[in-house]
Amino acid sequence: MVDYKCFSCSKTVADTYIKKKVRCPYCGSRLIFKPRTSITKVKAR
Ligand SMILES: [Zn+2]
Repeated sequence: MVDYKCFSCSKTVADTYIKKKVRCPYCGSRLIFKPRTSITKVKAR
């Protein structure tokens, strides 16, 4: 399962909702991206 993230309100949107409506259910924004493609790992030093 892939979780998408809204670019506007930065809330996590389930992909099942994306298939129905290609927009954020919270703010209605169409700017939704996959956070998994750009995961930044922070190493604690
Ligand atoms: Zn949103």
